[in-house]
Amino acid sequence: MPQYGVPLGRDGRRYTAPPMAGDLSGKVVVLGLDGATWDLLRPLAERGVMPNLAQALERGRHGGLESCLPPYSSPAWVSIATGKSPGTHGIFDFWEAGAPGEKRLVSSHSARGAKLWDLVDAAGKVANVVAVPVSFPPARLEHGRFVCGMFTPGEDVDYTWPHELKAELKAIPGGYEADPFALGLEGLEFIEQTQFWIRQQEIAVRRLLDKGDWDLLFTVIQAPDPLQHKFWNVLDPTDPRFDAARAADELEPLEESYRRCDQVIGDRLAMAERGATVLIVSDHGFGRFEKLFFINRALEEYGLLTRSGGTPGISRSGLSTRTVIDAIRRLDVLGLEKRVPTSVRERLARGIDSALSQPIDAEQTIGYAAAASAESVFIADWVPEDERREVGRCVIDVLEAARDPETGERIIEHAYLREDVYDGSELHRIPDVLIDFGERPYTASDRLAAGGIVERIPDAAGGGRHRRTGVILALGPGIAAGELTGARIVDVAPTALHAMGLAVPDDMDGRVLTELFSDGREVRTEPGRARDAEEEVVYTEEEEAAIEQSLKNLGYI
Ligand SMILES: [Zn+2]
Repeated sequence: MPQYGVPLGRDGRRYTAPPMAGDLSGKVVVLGLDGATWDLLRPLAERGVMPNLAQALERGRHGGLESCLPPYSSPAWVSIATGKSPGTHGIFDFWEAGAPGEKRLVSSHSARGAKLWDLVDAAGKVANVVAVPVSFPPARLEHGRFVCGMFTPGEDVDYTWPHELKAELKAIPGGYEADPFALGLEGLEFIEQTQFWIRQQEIAVRRLLDKGDWDLLFTVIQAPDPLQHKFWNVLDPTDPRFDAARAADELEPLEESYRRCDQVIGDRLAMAERGATVLIVSDHGFGRFEKLFFINRALEEYGLLTRSGGTPGISRSGLSTRTVIDAIRRLDVLGLEKRVPTSVRERLARGIDSALSQPIDAEQTIGYAAAASAESVFIADWVPEDERREVGRCVIDVLEAARDPETGERIIEHAYLREDVYDGSELHRIPDVLIDFGERPYTASDRLAAGGIVERIPDAAGGGRHRRTGVILALGPGIAAGELTGARIVDVAPTALHAMGLAVPDDMDGRVLTELFSDGREVRTEPGRARDAEEEVVYTEEEEAAIEQSLKNLGYI
């Protein structure tokens, strides 16, 4: 039998949750492990660090879970919660799309469409939701309970529903915080902090479940994501930069953090044995990266971007867009390796003499990366609608032609026009060109420095970044052990609804993973209830700044 409960930290105390009593048939449990990847989890299960996961892998159906593009936590968790892709729910990044330099942090109000917990609640069932990212302000469920997670702006705000729940969580020995990793701790202190909060959160989860009967439990453990951002070259022995000296100090405590995750998996495995359907999922995968790719610098080299006060690469004044496109084409994009100086590039070079990041000249810029996480390019507003596709293709040519000066290898795997990846009513809210680095060891930056297009990051930074393929592991009655292929993050919500016996709204982009279930029950659908994003100011400027700082501390941006 799996173990129950989550042990306390190095002080040796142990929290032992009593096993869930009774029959849990019809209940659905979603356990999110932010950023979890089989590349790390499988070896940890095999080495005995995650014994409950090893059991779960033997009993459950498991495979990769395809995330959105680019695979950022915010849009990915919203996709998991809504069953919709970014083109439909409208969240693409940590910030809502806007003009360059303009940004507003995403909140639970930014996303279009009902969330899994809203649908469960509307069906008269009880949802318990804890620490799902991008869920602040809390959902006011009629039957359920809600605790916000990442992006909760401090401890003074109301982040639970019902309101009184917050005081109860605060009274847990050791305390409770909704977004505890904002402090900016590093090294061993940070690792121990993750251990502590995995346990505190699990105590909170049990408090909610003890309040009465329930139908959905949806919780997310955030820790794997920042741990992997900070410690990838300690966690992954196959990383060429594997840091043996750091590993001697840090690997054991890191494994303890994963052991804590494993205890939670054990708890959920026990729920599956009592009849619940359990879906263990991650919002995206993870892998190493070694270098930053300065997208705006690459665009600048081809005259597609001009910084403020700089000399326009291709002056817009007096030119039709057609002429501009032709000029871009003449830049001999694929000749980048040859470094043939064109007159345009020579003129540009005179404008690039500052090591400081500078604002761009929006009037003289055709494409720019503006998202802080930046794996995308916006086409300037002034480009006419009927020419945006072709301009977008030019941007794609430039990005796909970019070569790492150190290796001569291409930097990105592919770039796509947004409409070739997504459709939906919110397509206009996401950037025009989306970048996929694949397995290549780069991540994007929108910084406009004077140096080259690529910069190596120090090994001490840890060097983990998101990948497109996360994990899914399904457990429960009628779910046979084995491999699962082709699952996507948008499939989680419809599958959870189906497992609860509820109808699936027909406006979800995902599908029920019917291959999981042996009962042959037909999928019921119902008309989706459109729900607009709410144009409400959720965060103060100070709160946004604090959350941005914590995202930096955690390695998300
Ligand atoms: Zn994530």
